[in-house]
Amino acid sequence: MNIPAHPHTLFKGQRFAVFGLGRNGLSAVCALAMYGAHVQAWDDTEATRSALKQHLSSSQQKHVYLAPFTTLEGFTALILSPGIPHHLPYPHPIAQYAKQAGIPILSDAELLYRAVRSYGSQARFIGITGTNGKSTTTALLAHIFHQAEIPTAAGGNLGPAALSLPLLPNRGIYVLEMSSYMLERLKSLHFNAACLLNLTPDHLDRHGDMTGYTHAKMHIFNHQTPQDLAVIGVDDPLCRHIAHTLFQKRNVICETISTTDPTSTYFGENGTLWHHDHVLAHTGPTLLGCHNMQNAAAAVAMARFMGISDQAVAQALLSFPGLPHRQKRVATCHNITFIDDSKATNAEATSWALECYEKVIWIAGGLAKDNGITPLIPLFHRLVHTFLIGKDAPILASTLAAHHVPYSMVDTLENAVPAAYHEARRTSTTIILLSPACASFDQFANFEARGIRFQELVQNICQTAQES
Ligand code: ADP
Repeated sequence: MNIPAHPHTLFKGQRFAVFGLGRNGLSAVCALAMYGAHVQAWDDTEATRSALKQHLSSSQQKHVYLAPFTTLEGFTALILSPGIPHHLPYPHPIAQYAKQAGIPILSDAELLYRAVRSYGSQARFIGITGTNGKSTTTALLAHIFHQAEIPTAAGGNLGPAALSLPLLPNRGIYVLEMSSYMLERLKSLHFNAACLLNLTPDHLDRHGDMTGYTHAKMHIFNHQTPQDLAVIGVDDPLCRHIAHTLFQKRNVICETISTTDPTSTYFGENGTLWHHDHVLAHTGPTLLGCHNMQNAAAAVAMARFMGISDQAVAQALLSFPGLPHRQKRVATCHNITFIDDSKATNAEATSWALECYEKVIWIAGGLAKDNGITPLIPLFHRLVHTFLIGKDAPILASTLAAHHVPYSMVDTLENAVPAAYHEARRTSTTIILLSPACASFDQFANFEARGIRFQELVQNICQTAQES
């Protein structure tokens, strides 16, 4: 490998402004300082600024200046926290400074790419985006590469921030989960394989409308060449249109994935994945449901493009451990399986889980979304009994009552888990599913905390059950 620069000098002589010191900003400051850049950093919250100070090593501290910004003249670029808008609904003042100084606003993924290339490494980059399924597809693809013993670093929107990933050698592969916010702030990052899974309305406050959101997501294919792969899920009309346009341009290899159209390049149905008319692989219990067939098809398409053998891909699909809180099996006791789907914070996400089970005891509730659980009415026949928790339980209860679904208001998860177990035993139901269809913030810090509490309660129940 041709290594022109020592890692500590990769960004020597460059000045970066980092505004917003959350997960991404913090890693960006540390990495940029480590790569020899000068960094001015700021966050309006005192606690966040203190956290940065504690994070920096003494050699990094020499490169970092903590002060509010009055201008961005003389900086190479601004790294702005993904949560801070530079355009809609209103541009943050710091974005105006960047405009006045004529400097770009960049995502940390762009800077990772620049660092890797300055280091002299030709490691390849894969980008994954879409409204849903990004994390699962990213984790699954990284798992396939790890199993094939390829140096792999996965992160971005999920897991470690892009700039905290290590510098990989030429044969290495970066698998980056890309949000629309990150995609808008790329300049030269070129994905050897890029995937757009699906598009449904989301984050419209930041993108104006569906056209703006689609436009942001399309950045994933920017700079791709005829040697690169574009993978597109064609189960929704917007993505179908994008696939059609890319096909016509023919300036990239374009492959389609679908769970409804068997003429796609990759087609997944009932746990079987097809490449044209050839069965490639099967998915295991960690990739249940039609939505996961889409994620698996995407990962398989990109893994094969990167040279992983069909046999290795098939094996890795079966050994994928799954991601926490996404239909994750927690335990089975007395033939009753507990499933943690705490990540399901709206009815659409819960519908994927409910579709996987014929009969289920359901735990739901929290802060309901606008449409509550009405989108789930067609799946109500699967509910043996529902236990409702959280602030908006009465809203959910009225929908259930209107459709004669038996339910109990139990207020907390602590009450719900033992009650659900008792009911499962009484009715010989084998699945207890936590898939709240609601946000968690009324009772928990986030969906992860809700899922972890569920797991603890399940372990308690199972332990008691085994002892009795
Ligand atoms: P993201 O990172 O895009 O939020 P995840 O992989 O974390 O996606 O999945 C979050 C939830 O979204 C899952 O629990 C499931 O309910 C739903 N989901 C996952 N994959 C898909 C998909 N391909 N299409 C639609 N919904 C999906």
